[in-house]
Amino acid sequence: MNLGADTTSISDHAGKTIPVDLHCHSTNSDGAFKVKELLDMALKNGGKYLALTDHDTVAGIAEARIYAKEIGLSFIPGVEISVTWNHSLVHIIGLNINDKDQALVNNLQHLQNGRITRGQKIAEKLAKLGIPDALNGAMKYCSDPKALSRTHFLRFLTENGYAKANRAFDKYLAPGKPAYVAHEWASLENAVNWITASGGIAVIAHPCRYKFTRTKLLKLINDFKSYGGVGIEVVSSSHSLDDALHIAQIAKECDLVASIGSDFHNITNNFARANVGVNYPLPPNCTPIYSKLGINI
Ligand code: AMP
Ligand code: MN
Ligand code: MN
Ligand code: MN
Repeated sequence: MNLGADTTSISDHAGKTIPVDLHCHSTNSDGAFKVKELLDMALKNGGKYLALTDHDTVAGIAEARIYAKEIGLSFIPGVEISVTWNHSLVHIIGLNINDKDQALVNNLQHLQNGRITRGQKIAEKLAKLGIPDALNGAMKYCSDPKALSRTHFLRFLTENGYAKANRAFDKYLAPGKPAYVAHEWASLENAVNWITASGGIAVIAHPCRYKFTRTKLLKLINDFKSYGGVGIEVVSSSHSLDDALHIAQIAKECDLVASIGSDFHNITNNFARANVGVNYPLPPNCTPIYSKLGINI
């Protein structure tokens, strides 16, 4: 696999990258690569510390832990929980979670059960728009019906010529677009509690993607901290360098530790262009999450 073309988005931000990636996806959610493929890629890219953070599932963690040991990657078990907060979709990362914590596993499973019914509704809307059989089409890209994601619909739509690459959300799947289906995910309080109760650390994922006003972001942070959340992603492939500097400043003001993650899903066909395993460094004006995770760089 040639990843060369995608390194520019990282190296544009800084001359070098660091071997830490605390956010990525496998085929256990909406990533395009299986756990072992993903870990092999991370290692090949120069990665050393990697967290797997699939959406609403820890299904890949056991395999990743074993394989990481085999190939010499330091592995951090993780998850990315879908949250509905003030009518907005927010993602909360859990790092160093215990994937064998039965309460966490049960709660995530319950959350995932909603994905198939939402997927059916998305497919019904697409059928009314003249796009038949989208449920089966999306499922072809999906390892488990419980993991069915809008990303799988994106692949179906783009690979069948219904939308140009990277336009499927704008045209159909994003809020306000004709095939969008609103869904009630976990509450912020529950998500942070599930993570923390399993021994993990809760982190707000890609804050700039929500396009919140400063006031709304500060309100999210305030609520998040009141439930025990401790971190925020400063470096993310969804963030420009300016975004990273801006969130680093907010992290400092709000006393949150700074996290870092590629949010890697795929080589193409995703809004997050990045390589798995490496990221550009955290800006100096923030406190890295590293010491809380035993990361030594
Ligand atoms: P879901 O959890 O099924 O609602 O799908 C959300 C996923 O869709 C995110 O985790 C991203 O991987 C992907 N996604 C969100 N917004 C976009 C976008 N504008 N373009 C491409 N993929 C997106
Ligand atoms: Mn995703
Ligand atoms: Mn996310
Ligand atoms: Mn993600």
